[in-house]
Amino acid sequence: MRHKGIKVVLVSSAVVLIVIVLIVLAERQFRGSETSVGTETVHSDAEATRETKKELEPDPFLSSGAVTVNYLTVNDYSRPGTKLRNVNAIVIHYVGNPGTTAAQNRSYFEGLKDGHGTSASSHYIVGLDGEIIQCVPLDEISYASNERNGDTIAIECCHPDETGKFNPATYDSLVKLTAALCKTYGLSPDKDIIRHYDITGKMCPLYFVSNEDEWYGFKLAVQTQMQ
Ligand SMILES: [Zn+2]
Repeated sequence: MRHKGIKVVLVSSAVVLIVIVLIVLAERQFRGSETSVGTETVHSDAEATRETKKELEPDPFLSSGAVTVNYLTVNDYSRPGTKLRNVNAIVIHYVGNPGTTAAQNRSYFEGLKDGHGTSASSHYIVGLDGEIIQCVPLDEISYASNERNGDTIAIECCHPDETGKFNPATYDSLVKLTAALCKTYGLSPDKDIIRHYDITGKMCPLYFVSNEDEWYGFKLAVQTQMQ
């Protein structure tokens, strides 16, 4: 009887031991698969970050003396601070207010924060003397191009009169700025430079909408500037 009792204890101990070993093994396998999935996620995230950083190597022109950085105050009406993740096009605009300077147009955007009505802004304004003011950082959206605000950089241009034609100084700076942005984002002047008109049908920039040849010529000039 005593031997039988010991046998029962031994057998049940062995069974318990086997069950414990099986549980530990199963758990280890489960954790193992979880860890490998986790590692892969972390790995690809790091890879994506590296790629983004590599893409956003700004052309030297953008940080040269040709561009005055004067960011708007973050506010709901002209600089929402929303991150701009992909840049798929550069949108060209005209200010539509003949004779006004780049500084005056920047002040207009800045003043919108107190108006609680109109929303408007652009990343850059090119002035009548060819001066360039940057109003919004390149990794944030501006309020210029309606449904394309989320994936474009906007450039507003000043003009001397109602025709909306840019003077040579403005045109020259616009070509250089647009070429630098195309290089920075790997964009093609032929298809990735667009007019506000191409998004909404608005007559903006007026001179490039009413003169298709001039618009084509501008894109060619950017192409040449990039070489
Ligand atoms: Zn426009």
